[in-house]
Amino acid sequence: MAGITIAGLSTVYPNGVRAVDSLDVEIFDGELFALLGPSGCGKTTLLRTIAGLEGASEGAVSIGPREVTRLQPGDRRVAMVFQDYALFPHMTVAENIAYPLRVRGVAKSVQQETAVRTAGGLSLGALLDRRPGQLSGGQQQRAALARAVAASAEVLLLDEPLSNLDARLRLEARTFLKKLQRELELTTVFVTHDQAEALALADRIAVMDAGRIRQLGTPREVFQRPADTFVANFIGSTPMNLVPRGDVVVGVRPEYLTPAASGLFTGTVSIVENLGVTSLVTLDCGEDQIGYVVPEDDEPAIGTTVTVDAPPARVLRYDKETGLLVR
Ligand code: ATP
Repeated sequence: MAGITIAGLSTVYPNGVRAVDSLDVEIFDGELFALLGPSGCGKTTLLRTIAGLEGASEGAVSIGPREVTRLQPGDRRVAMVFQDYALFPHMTVAENIAYPLRVRGVAKSVQQETAVRTAGGLSLGALLDRRPGQLSGGQQQRAALARAVAASAEVLLLDEPLSNLDARLRLEARTFLKKLQRELELTTVFVTHDQAEALALADRIAVMDAGRIRQLGTPREVFQRPADTFVANFIGSTPMNLVPRGDVVVGVRPEYLTPAASGLFTGTVSIVENLGVTSLVTLDCGEDQIGYVVPEDDEPAIGTTVTVDAPPARVLRYDKETGLLVR
């Protein structure tokens, strides 16, 4: 068991791209930690630098009390699942999952028991005797995840571990992954560009942009109080309303706005989008378009004039120049 300490870490590629730029992060022992951000923000590079697959240009990585910055990947006690999962093609699923245990000389019966249990949790129970070539992409991904989990390293690093799964399997695998991580209390860092996945899974999220961390916090913190307009735009299934007023930008989530006799915004209903048990209503308010969420069967008619308001604690102000939250 070990936390991860990242101190002044930069990873610069030979072409000069600073993919990771002077980062300081402490990932706690046993934590499920998400690296979240748009394509190209440096998530994968940071994960690979923790694993030792990329060399750090500056700074240090420690796992528990050991500084590992100059250690080979195999000496870092990390297990990693990549986007291109690299299973051994000549081994069955069961053999692939049990492989890390076999290498360590763990008893055959324990190997088998671990493979069956881990595979079961990831809906691979019926596929234990297949080879990777006989699996779908999503099944291969789950087999790779099972192998990493079975490796019982000190730290588990996952690069988009659920990206190849269809929506339903993704939800199932997500729940399993969270449950398993809780049971194993294994320090786990996962990369995702899916904000909903990060919110649902992680204990804490680092929202990244251009090699830096814009905000580090619990899902609730980053959802309720995004540190800047970049994070405000990135987090949330429906985009946050960001409305310039005077020298600030007012930010309020559609989920926190409700119709009221008087309030923040008044406009004409122009669009209603079905989100399942709720609908997203768009109001035309002159220059601005304001979204708010209503329960099913409460949708207003197109063309109606509606005023919406939010509790004061849910109305945020951002500096117009810097985009930073005004506290
Ligand atoms: P994605 O979600 O698309 O995988 P990411 O956030 O994981 O993106 P990285 O793959 O870490 O981003 O890339 C960060 C930056 O480093 C990008 O600008 C990318 O073009 C650049 N980069 C990545 N790998 C290399 C490489 N081998 N050589 C040079 N530049 C690279």
